[in-house]
Amino acid sequence: MNAAKKPRPQYVFEVVSTERVSPHLMRVHLAGSGFDAFAATAAERGSTDAYVKLLFAKPELDLEPPYDLDALRERLSPEDMPSRRTYTVRAIDRESRTIAIDFVVHGDEGIAGPWAANAAPGDRLCMSDPAGKYAPDPAVDEHLFLGDDAAIPAIAAAIESLPSEAVGRALIEVGSPSDEIAISAPAGVDIRWLHRDGAPYGSALVAAVEALDRPTGSVDVFAHGEREAMKRLRPVLHTEWGIERARLSLSAYWAAGRAEDTFQAEKRQPVGQIFDDEQTAARA
Ligand SMILES: Cc1cc2nc3c(=O)[nH]c(=O)nc-3n(C[C@H](O)[C@H](O)[C@H](O)COP(=O)(O)OP(=O)(O)OC[C@H]3O[C@@H](n4cnc5c(N)ncnc54)[C@H](O)[C@@H]3O)c2cc1C
Repeated sequence: MNAAKKPRPQYVFEVVSTERVSPHLMRVHLAGSGFDAFAATAAERGSTDAYVKLLFAKPELDLEPPYDLDALRERLSPEDMPSRRTYTVRAIDRESRTIAIDFVVHGDEGIAGPWAANAAPGDRLCMSDPAGKYAPDPAVDEHLFLGDDAAIPAIAAAIESLPSEAVGRALIEVGSPSDEIAISAPAGVDIRWLHRDGAPYGSALVAAVEALDRPTGSVDVFAHGEREAMKRLRPVLHTEWGIERARLSLSAYWAAGRAEDTFQAEKRQPVGQIFDDEQTAARA
């Protein structure tokens, strides 16, 4: 059977305000008439790593969001289609009826980072409904959170969801001490910031994980960030430490030198896979 694929719902939000959380992290607060449906879907999913696909249309094409992607595909060349970028929903504030997304400001390259750096009240942002896969397992002895700047929103949301008696460690790699941010954590969760200081992405994180002792009790791991770093963490976490796949949320959030379109397409090739047997199909 060839059932037609149902298009994912889209939400059009407007920027309410922006906030520099650190020199390289811009928080964008957004509101829109779809807030209730969006918040309900996120609550239904119950994951702390809720993420959305943002749709960026070329300004010169003057397209009106939400985008009828099937219709646009008929009349636009592939390079003129809206570009997709994946971002974590950092917070949903039911009182102010806003959502927050934290964007890494990584320079002039790309679409989403530069958009966030220049975002102003009234700017519109079109996105899919939230998906997500991970929530900390309350039954484990210890939680381990590993990542870089792009994973800060998902790691922070997970840590903030933990009960007060939770025990864990977070190792987060950022550019320099000025990129550290406040995360409200239970007393038993230790947050360690690692600084790249100009070294390649992920090198400080991988070295710090390699130097750790294997956790003694049951553990669940949330590890996300630059692709090569995640590939290097796999043998440590899975092979050496023996952490089973079900307890391991390990994936690449981005790849150095690749725009997201290429990064997603490469998930179908060995270079884009973290586990050798991965059959990850990039989501349309
Ligand atoms: C499930 C999921 C959740 C994510 N959540 C977040 C989030 O909450 N916040 C966030 O900032 N990112 C997040 N990311 C990563 C984000 O999707 C990518 O960083 C994306 O490539 C950024 O798009 P762009 O248009 O700014 O740059 P692109 O056009 O994709 O890339 C342009 C250039 O910038 C480089 N680049 C991209 N991202 C970074 C980076 N973080 N640091 C340094 N160089 C970079 C690329 O390698 C490329 O050379 C998430 C990814 C996934 C899969």
